[in-house]
Amino acid sequence: MDFLNSLAIEANNYGASTGTQWLTTTDEGVFEIKSPVDGKTIANVYKCNASDYQKVINSAKSAFVEWRQVPAPQRGDIVRQIGNKLREFKQPLGELVAYEMGKSLQEGLGEVQEMIDICDFAVGLSRQLNGSTLHSERPLHRMYDQYHPLGVVGVISAFNFPVAVWSWNAMIAAICGNATVWKPSEKTPLTAIACQNIIKEVLIDNKLPEGIFSLVIGDANVIGEDMLEDKNVPLVSVTGSTRVGRHAGQKVAARFGKSILELGGNNAMILTPDADLKLAVPAIVFGAVGTAGQRCTSTRRVIIHESIYDQVKAVLTKAYKGLRIGSPLDENNHVGPLIDTDSVQAFTNAIKAVKEEGGKVLCGGNVLSGEGYESGCYVEPVMIEAENHYQTVQHETFAPILYLIKYKGDVNDAIALQNDVVQGLSSAIFSNNMRECETFLSHWGSDCGIANVNIGTSGAEIGGAFGGEKETGGGRESGSDAWKAYMRRQTNTINFSTELPLAQGIKFDL
Ligand code: NAD
Repeated sequence: MDFLNSLAIEANNYGASTGTQWLTTTDEGVFEIKSPVDGKTIANVYKCNASDYQKVINSAKSAFVEWRQVPAPQRGDIVRQIGNKLREFKQPLGELVAYEMGKSLQEGLGEVQEMIDICDFAVGLSRQLNGSTLHSERPLHRMYDQYHPLGVVGVISAFNFPVAVWSWNAMIAAICGNATVWKPSEKTPLTAIACQNIIKEVLIDNKLPEGIFSLVIGDANVIGEDMLEDKNVPLVSVTGSTRVGRHAGQKVAARFGKSILELGGNNAMILTPDADLKLAVPAIVFGAVGTAGQRCTSTRRVIIHESIYDQVKAVLTKAYKGLRIGSPLDENNHVGPLIDTDSVQAFTNAIKAVKEEGGKVLCGGNVLSGEGYESGCYVEPVMIEAENHYQTVQHETFAPILYLIKYKGDVNDAIALQNDVVQGLSSAIFSNNMRECETFLSHWGSDCGIANVNIGTSGAEIGGAFGGEKETGGGRESGSDAWKAYMRRQTNTINFSTELPLAQGIKFDL
């Protein structure tokens, strides 16, 4: 596996880095990382301990003091160089993402491309961290607001986008003048180590202080908790399940820290009688089975008008029966493995539970074994007729399960079903009826952070702010003005008169 050599992944790797230096603790045990593609051990990672965590944080704190003095466009230049390094290592890093996480090679490479794109976006943004100038109510006074860096930003990421989510956070945080400490998922730490190895050269070439970009890998309830409780980390960005996000959000808020929460979704696509099925069907199938249903934006529910329900069901069933399941490194396959056998168990449990509630399996749902499936992580994507109110349908199962739900009435009835879940990440309508589409996008339409017309729920461009409402957490990352979450806002009033007028005309004579 040449990509492991190219990325300097060893048989045994260390779990903490201050930037260019690895801390060499070996007494906390290891994560043995097996590929879900073939079940083979890729490498081990020594867990870091609490003292390593402290060293990394101290180094990030000192780096921040220097880094914030570097003009933002020069910080942007460092991010530009990181983007170029990622271009150089796109192929091996994409291969490792695919092999460690189990997504297709195309998607692995796409994920690295997303990192490159966010670097480019951040470079431009480094010249646009603008506040606004405001009119004062007092004569010869000036008011404006401006944005300052926060300090050390903690990034806790999920396994399914093992590197892109870090870059969305770290590159924007960096041009804003912050230092970043990354705690990746314990399921995919090798890609994080690879990223650290890739950017190391940029840090050394530019003689940057240790600690601007650093890494801690360890048990979530040790190192993760340390980060949530740490007053030295004013902002923690958490991508993961709603269960973990709820806990993390409360912990960080208890110490008056800020958090960005990017949590679970339960994404639906509405098909009205006017839907163009040529567009809708591939969008549904890719949305539901791509990345084996392990995207936060994966399509989980399709809400179909009764007049086209049977037709859609027949076309989808045919498409599902033609799916090729196997190694994601083979471009001929549509569906790769789940991340681990626990996820396979969650998949089978959900199917059993929804059947007990009245759901009807239309196709798929088996766990695959035998040649090519030795890891035990491959399943047949399943399509199930269900009702929106079922407990199982209300819950995000991170696997390729698609629920078909029939609606009667007009688009408002479909929107009501779509919104009737606790999550609020991604949503889509397929319709050529302008009134239906605009209703869906209106403030009484979709209640999600992402609402698309004639585009599926799965995936997003980095230029937009990414995130969702309700139990998806409310955070926004990546493009648009998401950078503001990585800075503190300050309002300034300057008096250049010879008087001292008080606000609201208050008189105070001495
Ligand atoms: P997870 O919640 O199991 O873990 C996410 C991260 O939280 C991991 O790094 C984990 O180590 C860490 N963590 C767990 N317990 C912790 C604790 N007590 N303190 C600190 N950190 C802790 O999620 P996962 O299985 O890795 O990822 C799948 C989930 O992530 C899905 O629910 C998916 O929808 C969600 N997700 C959301 C987005 C989004 O942008 N909304 C993006 C990707 C994934």
